[in-house]
Amino acid sequence: MNNHRLSLRGTVAAAFVASALFAPCLVAAPAAAAVPAQARTVPGYYRLLLGQFEVTALSDGTVTLPLDKLLTNTSPAELGSVMQRAGIDPAKAEISINAFLIHTGSRLVLVDAGAGTVFPQAGKLVESLHAAGYRPEDISDVLITHIHGDHSAGLTVKGKAVFPNAVVHVQKADTDFWLDPAKAARYPRHAHAFAQARLDLAPYLASNRVHRLARAGEIVPGIRSLPAPGHTPGHSFYEVESAGEKLVLWGDLIHGKDAQFHAPGIAIEFDVDEAGAIRQREAAMADAASRGYLVGAAHISFPGIGRVAARGRSYDWLPVNYSEVELRRMPDKQ
Ligand SMILES: [Zn+2]
Repeated sequence: MNNHRLSLRGTVAAAFVASALFAPCLVAAPAAAAVPAQARTVPGYYRLLLGQFEVTALSDGTVTLPLDKLLTNTSPAELGSVMQRAGIDPAKAEISINAFLIHTGSRLVLVDAGAGTVFPQAGKLVESLHAAGYRPEDISDVLITHIHGDHSAGLTVKGKAVFPNAVVHVQKADTDFWLDPAKAARYPRHAHAFAQARLDLAPYLASNRVHRLARAGEIVPGIRSLPAPGHTPGHSFYEVESAGEKLVLWGDLIHGKDAQFHAPGIAIEFDVDEAGAIRQREAAMADAASRGYLVGAAHISFPGIGRVAARGRSYDWLPVNYSEVELRRMPDKQ
């Protein structure tokens, strides 16, 4: 019996080897056109551990921006040379839109909500969230770095709250600004952002689920708001800390990574207060470089998590090394 099995196995193995050797000669190659090419990529999420917290970067997609027209405090020559080194055409730079999910053990916290239906290449956050193993109704808190469509429009789609059980936390300086019709009249350059802000927050305001933050402080255990006004009046970082490890989520400190790490003084048209935004960028980059903590940024190439190193008066962005080994330390998910 055993011999028979062995010899059968040997016959099958020999046939397999033979077919592997000769198949290319015997079978005509199919025409390439018969196999349709696939234009989609997978929904994006990237997970790492920060102390006891599970942190997941979620991709909302991308937006293509004419950085040559939008970036300020620079020259075409300077911008051209830094962007050429990075291999990116500044006239059509494709920028990631990243959000970040933090499972603290007791709360599931989303930082920024993506662009909803505002941009054609974006609005994939909920798909990425599902791919990462969670549902919108699981989210307990949404922390908004600032009220701009690519961060807050994903809160509400077709008038309905996308996160039906979440409290939305946002700096009071941003709700005071973006929900005030008198301010809208004074800042016509940002008219579209004012209109979008009202739509984004409407269902959460109607159900009394907007928590307006007046100052820096802890929102849920291990996550603090750090107001960083400039880009918008209530623009805020969020500092996430667990078991001595730290990640600071920068919101819109950076729009053009290659230009702004090279020269933090380069700003963008979207800034409500350009000088304030520059001061925040210079201070945040210096702090991150000297203290070495992790940084997460909404518009640095997905997953947008890395560290900062000083290089003279410029900085380098050091993206996290792709890792799966570290996740094995996760307590009940081995
Ligand atoms: Zn943004």
